[in-house]
Amino acid sequence: MSPPTIAIVGAGPAGLTLAKLLHSADTNLSVTIFEHSASAKARHQQGGTLDLHPESGLLALRRMGLHDAARPHLRYEGEELVIADLNGCELVHMKDAPPPADGERDGGMYTRPEIDRERLVEVLLEGVEEGNVRWGKHLKRIDGETGKLEFEDGSVEGPFDLVVGADGAWSKVRSVLSDVMPGYSGICGIEGHIDNPKEFPRIDKLVGRGSFFSFSYGRACMAQRMGDNSIKLGTWQRRPETFIDELVGEQVEQEPLRKKLLEEYRDWCPEIRELIEVAHWRTKWKLYELPVGHKWEHKASYTLIGDSAHLATPFAGMGVNAAMLDALELSDQIITAVKAGTSLDRAVEVYEQGMFPRGRNVQERTMLNKTNGFADDAPLMFMSGMIGVVAKESGWPIDRGLLYWIPITRTAYSFFWMKTSWTACSRRLRRAIWGEKSLRA
Ligand SMILES: Cc1cc2nc3c(=O)[nH]c(=O)nc-3n(C[C@H](O)[C@H](O)[C@H](O)COP(=O)(O)OP(=O)(O)OC[C@H]3O[C@@H](n4cnc5c(N)ncnc54)[C@H](O)[C@@H]3O)c2cc1C
Repeated sequence: MSPPTIAIVGAGPAGLTLAKLLHSADTNLSVTIFEHSASAKARHQQGGTLDLHPESGLLALRRMGLHDAARPHLRYEGEELVIADLNGCELVHMKDAPPPADGERDGGMYTRPEIDRERLVEVLLEGVEEGNVRWGKHLKRIDGETGKLEFEDGSVEGPFDLVVGADGAWSKVRSVLSDVMPGYSGICGIEGHIDNPKEFPRIDKLVGRGSFFSFSYGRACMAQRMGDNSIKLGTWQRRPETFIDELVGEQVEQEPLRKKLLEEYRDWCPEIRELIEVAHWRTKWKLYELPVGHKWEHKASYTLIGDSAHLATPFAGMGVNAAMLDALELSDQIITAVKAGTSLDRAVEVYEQGMFPRGRNVQERTMLNKTNGFADDAPLMFMSGMIGVVAKESGWPIDRGLLYWIPITRTAYSFFWMKTSWTACSRRLRRAIWGEKSLRA
């Protein structure tokens, strides 16, 4: 019997991971990736830097044999994280000490290194043989009768034994399995870049080696250090779907946009406003999400991995990890079935049964962060919500036994409230006495 033919639609982290794992297996599988972008260089990048988790993203890299290739780009020092409010009041400052020397990191506190998304995709692409990615192939539709893939350029391919949708938010493969379309998440924003942060010592210090995330009153300003020491900045707001188009217009014009953003963030502290003042603004975003728990009836010859299956907003930083883990789990099932000569269809069904609860968990975590991070009393809700999640994941039974009677999350909320209120009062006092200097004022 000839080995199954597999089409992967989309050469993002999910599709590339799956392709690499399937190619590496000793199975003679015929695997082709169809990718919308015209070439590897012409890709639209989303998400500046990503943290890879040991049980998913890093595990997949190891299983692909690409961990060594990725190692020079993995930044354990980038795990430093500050969560603050609009006054710059730090509610948490994690991993502020530099990580220990190479080699001690994986077994210790530093387990989730950052990597620039661009570098990750480069490493994944190096793992896939050149001819296996068909660039410039935008899938338009799948003919439900014949199973053929119809592309924007008029070409038709297939049918295949299995079509895997790794085609992200607006997946065309998904339409074969589910009628559900992503809905607007309520959050939109604009991303910018600071190429030369050393020229601005105050913000260079603020962002540190990793991430500085500030939330207040339905707004966020999120800055992240990139591999080349530049800073990626995102301003996000809880607003109607039309808001960002009205704010930015058709094209990003730096000075008018900067003025509008500074007006939006007028009551934020000078350091955060300085980030907005010096950034070069690039990409506007309206964030979409699939309903929590999105699933479908199993259908032979089709499945989904990554965002196409469980699209969520980026506020839990789990999307890439979940995408790579889906690819790993699906490849394991396929390879086992092919080697054993058992049903490919059953293998895909087993993958889906494992993926649905995992995808749901990612969506729930992300929804919690989004709701709390953009609540009127963020970052207090965000922080106390995080304590609940961390406690649950670490197995602390805060909702059982003696601990049930100690209102841990409410106590934390009160503590953070006092801390932020104190900072707000002292900032007001300082402003009244000395005034507040803005960089370009
Ligand atoms: C602004 C932003 C910031 C983010 N930050 C983070 C973060 O910090 N951490 C994190 O873990 N995640 C983050 N994410 C989420 C993360 O980017 C996704 O979860 C991840 O990229 C999913 O990988 P994927 O391969 O499933 O989909 P994608 O990365 O979307 O890849 C899909 C691929 O399919 C191709 N494609 C799409 N349609 C077609 C078609 N019709 N035909 C052919 N090809 C097609 C696309 O060109 C693309 O190459 C962020 C997302 C956004 C929008």
